[in-house]
Amino acid sequence: MIDVARIREDFPILNRKVHGQPLVYFDNAATSQTPKQVINSIVDYYENYNANIHRGVHALSQEATDAYEQARIKIQKHFNAAHSHEIIFTSGTTHAINIIASGYQTLLGPGDELLVSAMEHHSNIVPWQMLCEKTGAQLKVIPMLPNGTLDLEAYQKLLSPRTQLVFVNHVSNALGTINPIEKLIAAAHAVDAKIVIDGAQAAPHIATDLQQLDLDYYVTSAHKICGPTGVGILYGKSALLNLLPPYQGGGEMIATVTFEKTTYAGLPHKFEAGTPNIAGGIAFGAAIDYIQSIGIDAIAAYEEELLRYATAQLSKIEGLKIYGQAPHKTAVISFNVGAIHPYDIGTILDKMGIAVRTGHHCAQPIMDYYQIPGTVRASFSFYNTKEEIDRLVVAVNKAKMMLE
Ligand SMILES: *Cc1c(COP(=O)(O)O)cnc(C)c1O
Repeated sequence: MIDVARIREDFPILNRKVHGQPLVYFDNAATSQTPKQVINSIVDYYENYNANIHRGVHALSQEATDAYEQARIKIQKHFNAAHSHEIIFTSGTTHAINIIASGYQTLLGPGDELLVSAMEHHSNIVPWQMLCEKTGAQLKVIPMLPNGTLDLEAYQKLLSPRTQLVFVNHVSNALGTINPIEKLIAAAHAVDAKIVIDGAQAAPHIATDLQQLDLDYYVTSAHKICGPTGVGILYGKSALLNLLPPYQGGGEMIATVTFEKTTYAGLPHKFEAGTPNIAGGIAFGAAIDYIQSIGIDAIAAYEEELLRYATAQLSKIEGLKIYGQAPHKTAVISFNVGAIHPYDIGTILDKMGIAVRTGHHCAQPIMDYYQIPGTVRASFSFYNTKEEIDRLVVAVNKAKMMLE
């Protein structure tokens, strides 16, 4: 069970007012709020042991290196990767995807096919389009169905011995759909394709076991799971990461450098050129500690309750249409009211202290599928309450009255 009142004390920002009203933060799918424990880990680093890692013999450098590597191990354990060197620190999901895409430039050619789902974030579409332009490989789309789920029959038909890579998010950021990744992974492996799962939207809400899933590549960002911005991970099975050439050249990613020949460091350093976001990595570890202190299953159960309540209450509003009615969803509600532009609703909600996202949510193909310019998206977290949802319902009704 979740003690929301207690948990909210960990989030100083939830006490602030916006336009004179207590903040209601329902933009968690864009970025989550940060608990004191995570903020303190950043302050502690800068106040007490700020130093560059891996290179120094002095005490501060060793303390910083230890904390950074401990964070890597926390993340490894949390997602159950086999080895900590399979966890590569990146600046986020987008960066992690680009590392894979860049690595495959030398491994693909004409005749190869890549499959991408119709409900991906732009960051899981554009790098693959760029990869196809460079290699001559072909990108094919796994279509979606009106309820916001993937068309699994069509997926089966698209898979072939030509398929090299498959890209699917674990959870859609625009619709909240939880994709059946076990099935998607098994089907990809049956034709010897590798699969990349974008976990940015799932990691904060549902447990993920990389080994049990037999995942090839997994990417996620800290800032959606109560961590800071500008840090995330690329996970890959060792053998697969070893296949990929380095992404950037520089310090930290080499074994030896001479002007005749440079040899590269092993995992994970091969992909971590330059001074990383040290405080961010440490804080990502603190965020994992925080999530574990509450329990991902308790989080999932409570958010499911919020989703059910919000769906029921919002559905009472005449003319309100929810996009994405998958049987398995995280606590995301994407909606429109009649013909009102989502931006206008968002603006009125903001005046009432309620933060939602409006627009295409970096998933334009989904909006094209539904033939809409965008939606209003309310996305909930374990620190939100039913009272806040009641305020949202009142505010949407008010916006509807003003705008219709
Ligand atoms: C947020 C998000 C991304 C991009 O994450 P960044 O932290 O901006 O790199 C990618 N995919 C999904 C599903 C997301 O929700």
